[in-house]
Formats: sequence, structure tokens, C-alpha cells
Amino acid sequence: MRKRIAILPGDGIGPEVCEAATRVLTEIGRIYHHDFEIKKGLLGGAAIDAIGQPLPEETISLCKQSDAVLLGAVGGPKWDTLPGEQRPEKGLLGLRKALDLFANLRPVTIFDSLAEASPLKDDIIEGVDLLIVRELTGGLYFGEPRERRNEGGQEIAIDTLVYSRAEIERIVRRGFELAEQRRGVLTSVDKANVLESSRLWREVVDEVAKDYPNVEYSHMLVDNAAMQLVRNPKQFDVMVTENMFGDILSDEASMITGSLGMLPSASLSESGPGLFEPIHGSAPDIAGKGIANPLATLSSVAMMLAYTLQMPDEAEALQKAINNVLENGYRTADLTENRESALSTVEMTDKVLEAL
Ligand code: ATP
Ligand code: MG
Repeated sequence: MRKRIAILPGDGIGPEVCEAATRVLTEIGRIYHHDFEIKKGLLGGAAIDAIGQPLPEETISLCKQSDAVLLGAVGGPKWDTLPGEQRPEKGLLGLRKALDLFANLRPVTIFDSLAEASPLKDDIIEGVDLLIVRELTGGLYFGEPRERRNEGGQEIAIDTLVYSRAEIERIVRRGFELAEQRRGVLTSVDKANVLESSRLWREVVDEVAKDYPNVEYSHMLVDNAAMQLVRNPKQFDVMVTENMFGDILSDEASMITGSLGMLPSASLSESGPGLFEPIHGSAPDIAGKGIANPLATLSSVAMMLAYTLQMPDEAEALQKAINNVLENGYRTADLTENRESALSTVEMTDKVLEAL
């Protein structure tokens, strides 16, 4: 198959982990006889340095012409003094908008060989395999009005949580579809005892559920969900929720694993290209040292193969290769106390290529 893939390395360790991804994609193309046409684009601080703004028009059109987009990371201390509108992070927000990425998927899986890194007990985390589906374009992040004003001599600040039925329906439907492809269990997370938007959310979930009789679904209040995630994370398969609840719960859930350098994410639109990226940031403290863990980015490539490129066998092969490398004891510096035995980014990537 012929597929166009845009790679936006970005800042910090972004270029290093994206180089690993390029090597792995090229190898998968060779093994499975696919023609991956990989083109690189500028985003974030790298784009600011090159052309003075974080999201070049050229990058937007490159992404729109591609089947999928892989992103390294954006941001770093070098650009922290710029005004908010010109920051590298604005580039990523703008790109998400331009591609209409409304569904953010964050899988949380425990690699048995890394279980010791988790802050939770072995019996609680053993076999955890869940997927958080977060709405990405609505809610408190974008609702109007959002402003400061004076009311009766008091300064007040306003944020607005708005969701339309259509916005809720498309994310909830995506949640049910994903649950159907997995273990068939969906937990919808809301705050329906307090919020009107959550009451509409529940109504929509109950309606959409009729189209997915094979999915066993339930509603859970967000405060309880936060507690259940550390008390018994194994109960979850797919969790679907609105923007801010999803932001908080996905960070909480990622810590269950104890290995930030391992976790991928995907942001999907209705029919355009998906955007895939590791959940870790640009890690400026280790940038340029060649020691970054490439596995979160390689897992993001596996998600790209599975979710957007319709290559489930290739996705599985890559995920297996990653597991295999870990089971064989190979570790980058972030995953081991034993600095002497730690592999560099390139060496770790070599191991994954060998396993493939
Ligand atoms: P951001 O604001 O972009 O999320 P952050 O400072 O919150 O950035 P990271 O950039 O993810 O978070 O870095 C947090 C810590 O984890 C740093 O010490 C960093 O070196 C480490 N880290 C993050 N990603 C990796 C990786 N892929 N390999 C090794 N260490 C990593
Ligand atoms: Mg962060």
C-alpha cells in the first residue's frame, strides 16, 4: 500500500525519537511491501526559529495531504519568554484545530517487565489495559464567554462549559466503536449530579448505546472514576469523557504505569489524517544527548498503523517487538537504575528493528 506520512519532529528530544520512528517505519515498509512516503514539516519552536511562527501554513497543508501525522514534541525553555500567542504550544493547538481532531486516545497498558516502576502494588496493576477517550474540541477549553469583569466592585472570572448534542454524540460513538473492537466494556465519565452538560452527556450515551448492544456500558461520576483508577484500574476497558475530565484522568492513568517514556497517544478526526504522538514532552533536560527513550514514539507509530493506516498486522508486529525488547531486559536510562547498561536512543531502536 502507498501511504503518505508527515513527521513533525518539533523540539527537544522530538527529532531524536522521530528519527527512531522513521527508521522503524522504513523497515516495516520493507518487510510488508508498503510504500511509505515520509515528509518532514516544521512545528513549534523549530518553526519559530526557522520562520518566526509556530505553525507554518506549509505544515498545515502537508498534514492535510497526508494519511497520518507523527509528532515528536514541542516547546522548551528557549521559547518560554515569548508572549502566549507566539509560544510553540500554540502551534500544536492550532494544528489540532486545523485537522479537527476531536477524539484523543490514550491507552494505558502495563508492561509486565516494567511493573516495578509503578507506584501501585503488583496485584493492583497486573494486566491493566485501558483506553481513555477524551473529547478534545469542546467544553471549558473553548466555551464562551471566558473573561474577567467587574461585578458590583468585585473582580470575577468566567469560564463556560458548553457541549452540543452533536459534539457529544460523535465522541461517544467513537468510544463505543473502540469498546466494540476491544473487550466490549465502556465507562462514560461525567458529573451528572452537578452539571447540566453532564446530564445531556448521559442522555446521549443512553441513546447511542442502543446501536451497540454488544457493549456493556455504565456511567460513573468523575470523582469516583479518579478514585477507582488507583483503587482498581483493571475494571476499565474504554473510558469516554469530556475535555477537562479527560485531561486530568489521562494524566492520572498514565502514572499508574510509572513509565512516562512508554506511553503513546492518538488524536483522531471524523475522516481526515490522525495525529500520533508520545504523551511525554520535549524533555529539554536530556535533549541532544542521544539517551531519550524512543518507545513511546514507536508505540505511537503502532497506533498509527492500527487506527489510521488500516494495518493491524503491522501494528501488532511492532507492539510485539517493543514488548519483546523489554522482556529481554533492554532499557534506556529512564527505565533503569543501572546507568552502565542503559542503551542509547539509537541502540534501543536497533533492538526493536532486530525484534521486528
Ligand atoms: P511538557 O510541558 O512538554 O509536558 P514536561 O516538563 O511536563 O514537558 P517532559 O518533557 O515529558 O515533561 O519531561 C518530564 C521528565 O521526564 C523529564 O525529566 C524528562 O527528561 C523525562 N522524559 C520525558 N520523556 C522522556 C523520554 N522519552 N525518555 C527519557 N526521559 C524522558
Ligand atoms: Mg507536562
